[in-house]
Amino acid sequence: MRNITVLGSTGSIGRSTLDVISRNRESFRVVALTAGSNIKLLESQIRQFKPGIVAVADAKTAGELAKKVRKIDILSGPDGISQVAAYAGSDFVISSIVGAAGLMPTVAAIKAGKNIGLANKEALVMAGELVMKIAARKKVRVIPVDSEHSAVFQCIGNHTPDQIHRIILTASGGPFVNRTLKDLKNITAQDALKHPNWSMGRKISIDSATLMNKGLEVIEACRLFNMPAGKVDVLVHPQSIVHSLVEFSDRSCLAQMSVPDMRGPIAYALSYPLRVKDPIPALRLDQIRTLTFSVPDLKTFPCLSYAYLALAEGGTMPCVLNAANEVAVHAFLHGRIGFTHIPAVIRKTIDGHEAVPASSLGRILEADRWARETAEKYISRLRK
Ligand code: NAD
Ligand code: MG
Repeated sequence: MRNITVLGSTGSIGRSTLDVISRNRESFRVVALTAGSNIKLLESQIRQFKPGIVAVADAKTAGELAKKVRKIDILSGPDGISQVAAYAGSDFVISSIVGAAGLMPTVAAIKAGKNIGLANKEALVMAGELVMKIAARKKVRVIPVDSEHSAVFQCIGNHTPDQIHRIILTASGGPFVNRTLKDLKNITAQDALKHPNWSMGRKISIDSATLMNKGLEVIEACRLFNMPAGKVDVLVHPQSIVHSLVEFSDRSCLAQMSVPDMRGPIAYALSYPLRVKDPIPALRLDQIRTLTFSVPDLKTFPCLSYAYLALAEGGTMPCVLNAANEVAVHAFLHGRIGFTHIPAVIRKTIDGHEAVPASSLGRILEADRWARETAEKYISRLRK
């Protein structure tokens, strides 16, 4: 029996995680949950899974929840969420808060020696070298939940880094694959939220539409698998069946395939090194028949190339890239800027940053704060 904590249990990954657990109660028990502000859903999750402790984003939400559920510890705020992440009764933490808010709870869980199923890619983009160093020191396993990285992890198996020639991450291309820059000018948030293959949270859906999601994933792959940027490539594969590939030194390639359903990689992370029975429907290649691959269009979707720029700069630059993207996506979702302004805001912000070594969480959080302020100033100027 594994005792599981789910950080961000009311989100898309959180709900899929609880779905996998609910079908495998003999193997997994939920002991702790955290959520932002959706207490209606959290309340029903508490009734179904009976965790001993929960945390929510703020004290007011915690107060409202306390009126509805009994016999449970309710914490609140970033510190409360980090405390739950480190909860002594848990053996494994699914880190699925969206954005920079996921960094400190993930670090808290690692410092407490919990093995991690990592969906929150932003934590690794901001502070990947540091996070992986702390994980190594604590002998903590970071098992990717992101489908591409789960694929790479499964393909690498027991191969050593010197046997890997390169990693090829696949990208669906998002809802606007094959569109021109002109087509993208009048895209609305509603258009951008309609992903062809995956149903996901709002932020990652926009990241998929700009290809920034793939940029964040290139950085995530470099940190998770200790690879230089030159060994991580991207191919557009609109069918989302091949989740990624590893090319080995003998030029043999292994790929991992399945139907696009996040319960697959979630179940793999929860049960590693074993496998759960039937978390997703079987793949019918005879019905799919055609799998295609092409190089990404970086002129129309420059966000991916900005991720490579940030990796080349190193230090605090990936953190600044991530923060500028979060601010720009938030502004786009609230109708404050257009779709094509997202890359412009990111470019302007990274161009204005002098990277310093990302040697402490303090430096990283300072770079994050600076980038948010700078991106916000640029957005205000755009609106005038
Ligand atoms: P989501 O928006 O659906 O859910 C986010 C969760 O985080 C919710 O429970 C929300 O309440 C919580 N949260 C948000 N802000 C918070 C804050 N400030 N403090 C505390 N909790 C907060 O997002 P999602 O699509 O589930 O994505 C979660 C993470 O997983 C992201 O990092 C994303 O990139 C990654 N991921 C998602 C998918 C997917 O299919 N959805 C696939 C791969 C990776
Ligand atoms: Mg992914």
